[in-house]
Amino acid sequence: MLQIDGSRGEGGGQILRSSLTLSMVTGTPVRISNIRARRARPGLMRQHLTAVQAAARISKARVEGAAVGAMELTFEPGAVVPGEYHFPVGTAGSTTLILQTVLPALLLAAAPSRLTLEGGTHNPLAPPFEFLDRAFLPLIRRMGPRVEATLERAGFYPAGGGRLSVAIAPTERLSGLELLDRGEIRSRRGAALLANLPDHIAEREVQQLVRQTGWDPGCFEVRRVDSAGPGNAVVLELASEAVTEVFTAFGAVGVAAEAVADQAVREMRRYLAAGVPVGEHLADQLLLPLALAGSGAYRTLPLSLHASTQIELIQLFLDVRIIAEPEEDGRLCKVRIES
Ligand code: AMP
Repeated sequence: MLQIDGSRGEGGGQILRSSLTLSMVTGTPVRISNIRARRARPGLMRQHLTAVQAAARISKARVEGAAVGAMELTFEPGAVVPGEYHFPVGTAGSTTLILQTVLPALLLAAAPSRLTLEGGTHNPLAPPFEFLDRAFLPLIRRMGPRVEATLERAGFYPAGGGRLSVAIAPTERLSGLELLDRGEIRSRRGAALLANLPDHIAEREVQQLVRQTGWDPGCFEVRRVDSAGPGNAVVLELASEAVTEVFTAFGAVGVAAEAVADQAVREMRRYLAAGVPVGEHLADQLLLPLALAGSGAYRTLPLSLHASTQIELIQLFLDVRIIAEPEEDGRLCKVRIES
């Protein structure tokens, strides 16, 4: 049984979720200890337990020790069983992080799957639906499988109640990707998402986006979404020759609409200034699929602790080499995956 120390590196939920994913895909039993040891409230929280349960269901795993607050568990996967699954994550728990956990196994399964996930679809510190749909899944499709996600209802923190459905047509082998140069920016779009809140919030966000970006006002829209509770997010989308990137900032009580717009713009400017194709979040999320493909390369911003923890973890399960080389005095990073 492979022993994973959950306090390594970033020491949060990602190392747990990625361990489950890699365990399922490779059929390797794991014991994970020190779960989320670096977090203020360590151990499994409700949403992490849901990830364990979802992974256990699709791989018929034997699980010991999984309970709220637990800091250690064992996970012994069986064969991955594709099919129809419904994962209610609970109120506002992130549906996209559950998808992140189970998707790689289903991409390589013997038959198609259809998932319905209920909970949060727009959570801070998790991939929002637009990122999944516009940035991440198009790259996964380029690797061979067909995956389509549909937002049936938005779920914002704290009310949640969103619903996401995902159709997966797997592939026998994933092919690698090379994303070394961004190329021209081909389209620019922005939206202020709004649920059950006054219109002026989204309108002020759009005005601020126009001021800050200098783009044509026609690039922006106010998008009212159906949701159980209040919610607001600013989403910027840049499509370049190589890739589409998405930058998100969330509205919160006590934060001015203008500041929400500014935050999304700041993230986008950092990406634009670096001139690379792959932004911070894609950089950690592409590692696992590319490692399963056994090949790939991309240029990105300096790696987050998330990404470097992923690199270490993946190499415990898979016979691949992941090389991260700083470029331009550490301003950029080139990542190569070789088998
Ligand atoms: P953790 O913080 O360990 O629970 O993991 C968070 C995951 O969500 C990582 O894969 C991040 O790349 C991803 N993530 C966080 N914020 C965003 C964002 N704004 N856009 C896309 N992905 C995100």
